[in-house]
Amino acid sequence: MIVTIDGPAGAGKSSVSRQLAARLGFHYLDTGAMYRALTWWVLEQGRDPGDRKGVAELARQIDISFAGDRVLVAGQDVSQAIRSPQVTGAVSEVADNPDVRQVMVSRQRDLARSGDYVCEGRDQGTVAFPQADCKIFLTASAAERAQRRCRQLVEQGESADLEEVLAAQNKRDLRDESRPVGKLVKAVGSIEVLTDGMDFPQVVDHLEAIVVKELGL
Ligand code: C5P
Repeated sequence: MIVTIDGPAGAGKSSVSRQLAARLGFHYLDTGAMYRALTWWVLEQGRDPGDRKGVAELARQIDISFAGDRVLVAGQDVSQAIRSPQVTGAVSEVADNPDVRQVMVSRQRDLARSGDYVCEGRDQGTVAFPQADCKIFLTASAAERAQRRCRQLVEQGESADLEEVLAAQNKRDLRDESRPVGKLVKAVGSIEVLTDGMDFPQVVDHLEAIVVKELGL
């Protein structure tokens, strides 16, 4: 069975999807981590993220795997490195590349053949798994997402400026919503969950109730 969770940056998709998968006894597929891992590799090799052909070739070659919640490239743990500001700044350009998306979607489908999965990203219910058993569009208002991100940064001991975070988030939203292939859009048949005012356990409980009902578990 496949559950897809799509939505904009900062909606809390990753932590919620991971927890939901654990509760259901499903595997969790973080597709954003795949685009990040490729971006990390492109930068590692000193290549230009905007070189469409070159990056697509790297996408076909890269060895990405998951070990629990760790992300590996050719066996090297890159879980932290793929969250760096450099990778975050370049990942949209890599993810815009239609040839890269084709390779990634095909890998996602291969991976999800091996069992029950919660697949999280931007295009999981629209492009990768339009026939998924349950499709969720997880979102929150731009202001709420930016506030959450600022709280997170402060908790990590970093400085956070709400206006700056909001501006960067709007830029990423726009890019995610306007790419020619795999753009962020609510999938047909998906259930929209707006998480403003809900805390983490409430969101997970809510999604679990939806999935259990939809899948008849
Ligand atoms: O979810 P996360 O922020 O880690 O994703 C990193 C980037 O990868 C996003 O900014 C988005 O542009 C891209 N992405 C995508 N399609 C997916 C998952 C992520 O284009 N299925």
